[in-house]
Amino acid sequence: MAAVTQTTTPSMWSDEELAEVRGRLQQEIDELEADILRHETEIASGDVTQGAGDDQADAGAKTYEREREIALTLNARDLVAQNERAIARIDAGTYGVCESCHKPIGKERLQAFPRATLCVACKQREERR
Ligand SMILES: [Zn+2]
Repeated sequence: MAAVTQTTTPSMWSDEELAEVRGRLQQEIDELEADILRHETEIASGDVTQGAGDDQADAGAKTYEREREIALTLNARDLVAQNERAIARIDAGTYGVCESCHKPIGKERLQAFPRATLCVACKQREERR
């Protein structure tokens, strides 16, 4: 008889709670992807109108605007990737485990920051680096 002493369950997450977090992450992905699409359309249309204005200042403003759009898009893409990773962790049953020290991250922290992959201690250590 093999005694089951394994306690790998990271924290007391019910299926319902996980489904709720998963839903929140998925909704955010949908919103971010809509944002990305909008920004990309704006960036693309900016290329089309290039050369239309001969005003130097206007061109500078356009470049700035375009760079801002690209930065926003990259940021949104990064968030999508983080959310997708969190969802993958939920599906794999490893959600809520710190990626660094493998201890439970803590439910309250995850409910505030659903895409957190580090516990508070590891996060603080990382920020100090
Ligand atoms: Zn940790």
